[in-house]
Amino acid sequence: MKLETKAKQTLKKIKLSKKEKIIVALSGGKDSSVTAYLLKNFGYDIKGIYIDLKIGEYSEKCLKAVKKLCEDLDIKLYVYDIKKEMGSSMCYLRTAIQSGHGKGLKNCAICGVVKKWILNREAKKLKADKIATGHNLDDEAQTFLMNIFKGSPQLSANSGAITKNTPNKKFIPRIKPLFYILEEDIRKYSKLMKLPVVYEKCPCAIDSYRIQVRKFLNTLSRKDKENIIKNFDISSKKVKVINDKIKYCEICGEVSRKNICKKCELMMG
Ligand code: SF4
Ligand SMILES: [Zn+2]
Repeated sequence: MKLETKAKQTLKKIKLSKKEKIIVALSGGKDSSVTAYLLKNFGYDIKGIYIDLKIGEYSEKCLKAVKKLCEDLDIKLYVYDIKKEMGSSMCYLRTAIQSGHGKGLKNCAICGVVKKWILNREAKKLKADKIATGHNLDDEAQTFLMNIFKGSPQLSANSGAITKNTPNKKFIPRIKPLFYILEEDIRKYSKLMKLPVVYEKCPCAIDSYRIQVRKFLNTLSRKDKENIIKNFDISSKKVKVINDKIKYCEICGEVSRKNICKKCELMMG
């Protein structure tokens, strides 16, 4: 099946309306660029946001690619400068966290929590109805397997092509239009469409466990990977979303599972 058809089917499944305002989290990579390209061509109301993590030259290259993409697609771009907004680069923030109480936490785990927090907050300011990210089938299969290996498949419960959290005005639902599409197909498509994309990996992506799972997944066939996601869909219908009670972080006021949200817990030092 064609990549466009699969993405359209996913958007239909999650009932995305053309009246909704969507913010696409752009990273400069192939996945988020293809996400924006498809949504725009399907006629959705989208804007882009780029979180400039200030990871040296890499972030500069990504910002350049994102600016070009938004120009080409004629979409408005918001740039969130982490240094200006939070006072330091992601590398600095992360090192400070890892040398304090966040010892042993992986780079991407810290960066992921901070980025999610920023995205939700900025999307609210921009009055968005949905946040679209570029997660693909390979990413999702990796996470699902990692949660199984950790013995916590319920951690995948509120994941999926759309987040399954209880509706709340402080939480903008996240959608993943490429949820059922393999990474290699996205790579080919981005090249075919000649999208301005940075193909090199983020220099901070050093999560040995995820890399190990990724290597294992890459030994599997397309069918096997698709079956993992099929299983995810079946099992996620049965697993209840954990700790579904809505709380608000005592420090930042954002939606949180505990009294203090993950981002503030990390930043407490
Ligand atoms: S690869 Fe990891 S460290 Fe780099 S931007 Fe993504 S989450 Fe952050
Ligand atoms: Zn908080």
